[in-house]
Amino acid sequence: SPADATARTAPSDAGASATSTSGKPAASATDADARQRQREEARLIRTRDAAARRGTAAKDGQWASGDRTPLNPNEEFKAASDPLEVRHRIETMYARWGFWSIPPSDLRGRFRWWGLYTQRKPGIDGGRTALLEPHQLDDEYFMLRVRSDGGQLSVAQAREIARISQEFGRDTADISDRQNIQLHWIRIEDVPEIFRRIEAVGLFTTEACGDSPRVILGSPVAGVAKDELLDPTPQIQAIIERGIGSPEFSNLPRKFKSAISGTRVPDIVHEVQDIAFVAVEHPELGLGYDLWVGGGLSINPHLGQRLGAFVEPDKVAEVWAGVIGIFRDHGYRRLRTRARLKFLVKAWGAEKFRQVLQDDYLGWELPDGPAPVEASPGDRGDHVGIHEQKDGRWYIGAAPVAGRISGAKLEAIADIAEAAGSDRIRLTPLQKLLILDVPQEKVSDVVNGLRALELEAQPGEFHRNVMACTGIEYCKLAIVETKATAREVVKVLDEKFPDLDAPISVHVNGCPNSCARIQVADIGFKGQLVHDEESGGQVPGFQVHLGGRLGRGEDNDFGRKIRGHKVTADGMPAYVDRVTRNYLETREQGEAFAD
Ligand code: SF4
Repeated sequence: SPADATARTAPSDAGASATSTSGKPAASATDADARQRQREEARLIRTRDAAARRGTAAKDGQWASGDRTPLNPNEEFKAASDPLEVRHRIETMYARWGFWSIPPSDLRGRFRWWGLYTQRKPGIDGGRTALLEPHQLDDEYFMLRVRSDGGQLSVAQAREIARISQEFGRDTADISDRQNIQLHWIRIEDVPEIFRRIEAVGLFTTEACGDSPRVILGSPVAGVAKDELLDPTPQIQAIIERGIGSPEFSNLPRKFKSAISGTRVPDIVHEVQDIAFVAVEHPELGLGYDLWVGGGLSINPHLGQRLGAFVEPDKVAEVWAGVIGIFRDHGYRRLRTRARLKFLVKAWGAEKFRQVLQDDYLGWELPDGPAPVEASPGDRGDHVGIHEQKDGRWYIGAAPVAGRISGAKLEAIADIAEAAGSDRIRLTPLQKLLILDVPQEKVSDVVNGLRALELEAQPGEFHRNVMACTGIEYCKLAIVETKATAREVVKVLDEKFPDLDAPISVHVNGCPNSCARIQVADIGFKGQLVHDEESGGQVPGFQVHLGGRLGRGEDNDFGRKIRGHKVTADGMPAYVDRVTRNYLETREQGEAFAD
């Protein structure tokens, strides 16, 4: 994510005083703390000994080797003080003294653990992104990510975020591909009041960014889908209680992405998560989850591996804690570019990973279990449209363009839901929005109300299938604009292909990272500088990846970089037009774009 890569400056730990996450001075010698430290030390010794026995300790900075020497600037600031402790300094110091009182180790480091990172100074073109130091790119404003695990928001919660957006965030609100809302233009002076208001409605920003357990993806139709095997909401809650905001997991090698789905056809892009639980029916043990680990995109993309293990619903939080514990102890900490769980899973393989999980972290054997159902061509998993729930009411799934809404729109969405008698709004991993529990007689009111806000329940294919990351508007790593470019693609292509009979997904990233999951789109655009024929110079543009696909079991694959397929930002609609025409003219019966 943008936040991870922003902490590039060697930190000073001027702000690293000993404070607790709740704002109280850190207890230096309470009994509880002493016992916690003893337990932690004992666990580390056990882990180190087990790692030595297995030969799994190595020189990549794994804590399991027994050596905790910080090996890069991020590891240094995390070791200097628990990143969660910065909350106290935000409220008692920085919010009073202003932006320039914040030392780099907090500003570009620990702030992320509370969902905050600096946004890009306006007016700096993409060509200069790699040339400038982080502080030259920093604006005095923040992006704030509000955590909504499972994408779940009540009307009151959506309304509060909307009001905060309008009052403090210049009416910005984007739906991210991790089922949460991101606000921009937040001033440090306003953060305590924002935290207070968010928390008053039961939301929080804890570990929304940073080297920590991020927001947990969950099926947006949990509890209502007709084809649901299991409602994963209690398991999401159990994971939150077990490990979010806990010092046990607040210093990971890098981010840790979790997902859990109970629907027959998985809808949480489980193949590219660090850990995923996917509902299955075990022939003897009944309903539970199939366990996946080690998926991830960005540089060196890797599909998650099935461990072949079945997890009973009441064991999910324990297994989650075991897997994240392996990542904390054995994950590589020397190089940021190798610090995701996928590298460890690749090195160990599924069999060894499962063995270590069982022997050293759980202390019991996981039963073998079946694989989840593969999606069939008609299963999109985006929930767009009008669908009947298992209780006879309806849910409406609507697509904004590339996840962009606004505070005012979010408030209007809350009003529409309330007027229809619903208290449940859902965000999806594909940047869509759902209103659940709509009585049949209110369905057309909801559809029309959302349409007036440009959230379309019956969108054109490009409107439906486009995703875009934050891009140069706010992201300090971006080289290219994304949201407006994606909007232009939607406008031009839906007009040209009003009757397109096959979905073609278009994902747009503003830099070589993969926040919009470009490698798994039919057409993925990776932001970079490209050669411009007309001027003869380098201009912002995209490397194209073609043919990514998920949900197809053995046929899952990443899109391929096609030699010579680079486009300028302005040339993107014409490029999509060309490849779409080519596909339509040459496809065989039933052949999907990715084929
Ligand atoms: Fe992520 Fe986009 Fe920023 Fe790159 S430009 S880090 S892909 S949000």
